[in-house]
Amino acid sequence: MLWFFYCKGCIFMADNSFEDVKKQIDSVSDIMNLDEKTVEFLKKPMRILEFEIPIEMDNGEIKNFKGFRVQHNWARGPTKGGIRFHPEETLDTIKALAAWMTWKCAIVDMPYGGAKGGIICNPRELSKNELEKLSRGYIKQIVEYIGPQKDIPAPDVYTNSQIMAWMMDEYEKIVGHSSPGVVTGKPIEIGGSKGRDKSTGKGVAIMVKEATKYLGIELKNSKIAIQGFGKVGGAAAEFLEEMGAKIIALSDSKGGIYNPNGINFSDVVKWKNENGSLKGMKDCKDITNEEILEIECDILIPAALENQITEKNAGNIKAELIAEASNGPVTPKADEILNEKNIFSIPDFLCNSGGVTVSYFEWCQNISGYYWTEKEVYEKLEKIISKAFRKVFELHKKENISMRKAAYIIALKKVVEAMRLRGWN
Ligand code: NAD
Repeated sequence: MLWFFYCKGCIFMADNSFEDVKKQIDSVSDIMNLDEKTVEFLKKPMRILEFEIPIEMDNGEIKNFKGFRVQHNWARGPTKGGIRFHPEETLDTIKALAAWMTWKCAIVDMPYGGAKGGIICNPRELSKNELEKLSRGYIKQIVEYIGPQKDIPAPDVYTNSQIMAWMMDEYEKIVGHSSPGVVTGKPIEIGGSKGRDKSTGKGVAIMVKEATKYLGIELKNSKIAIQGFGKVGGAAAEFLEEMGAKIIALSDSKGGIYNPNGINFSDVVKWKNENGSLKGMKDCKDITNEEILEIECDILIPAALENQITEKNAGNIKAELIAEASNGPVTPKADEILNEKNIFSIPDFLCNSGGVTVSYFEWCQNISGYYWTEKEVYEKLEKIISKAFRKVFELHKKENISMRKAAYIIALKKVVEAMRLRGWN
């Protein structure tokens, strides 16, 4: 189903991501011989919280913000998933993101179910004081339903380690004891893990390395375009550059830049810090967020928001390999087109699983009180996610099915078995 919405003078078209999740489940339910009751269970979140957060703004006015927390499935353990602050957030997107978290935790064998949360707000228009009140207000609304053994939030789009610090602090104030394992992605000084801030991007780079190895693409000097230059896209660019790849195009919400000879990572970070956006960078041509997806490159990395590659632009994609660093960047119709064109995709919940893997390490460190070096974190990360990639790749080859279907089959099998053992199906 398509919806139209208005944003800053332009009309965007958004797919309903939760409908996409249902289609993705249906695409493997026959191959897996799943009965109807199980399929229906997987298509429904187990808990949905929807609430208002009243905040006193700096001008004295009281403003209400809508918040959500969706816990999709906890058959495999406490639920886990990030919190987004975004002006166009919807409950359906959060439901989709929560389901993808269930599959993501399963694919890398993390002992968690999936969840996701969000607040409809534009964090760029809020002061630090207002952001803190909003973060604390969010926790007040969900405090009964979260905890290290219940549901563990983390950062996502437009949230960061400072927001996690306020959230942990609010939770601890209410429950009356220290509880660092209630959120992950915290600052290192208060229980965060070394390597967590760049872990999703590091994981994406590891996935790209694995895929190029199997596909026979030479990663060194390969040309990479990355849509989204945030926590995930930025770290992926940094690690891929270290691996010898050439980042030829980058973008953020304001637009993108292109230089076929390569863009130096530290120069672009400096430029963005000084100018607030990528546009206008020296030796680069300004491009749009639509153009970056269709650019001549070897590897395309969508690392911004969902529904970027649709039936409208899938046919124009020139990359040989797509590494889905963001959640849900490719719609099911676009997926079919890309498969027909033999473009190899690393599906989102496999490709960006490095973040939840290091979040799990953070939670383990918090519970044991024993902290690891960055080297230990990255070594353990690479071992776990490379193995997950190989298993999906082998099934994709053996059964001659897409990487997404192979990943779905492996993940759903684990979730369904956990449900069976609990007597839920
Ligand atoms: P972020 O807020 O750090 O960065 C988002 C980036 O996307 C920013 O550069 C922003 O300018 C850009 N952006 C926003 N709207 C855009 C648009 N319409 N076109 C192009 N760029 C746009 O967020 P993040 O944490 O890097 O998350 C990016 C994606 O990765 C999301 O889909 C998120 O769910 C997913 N993800 C994040 C993590 C994590 O650990 N942060 C883990 C797994 C998956």
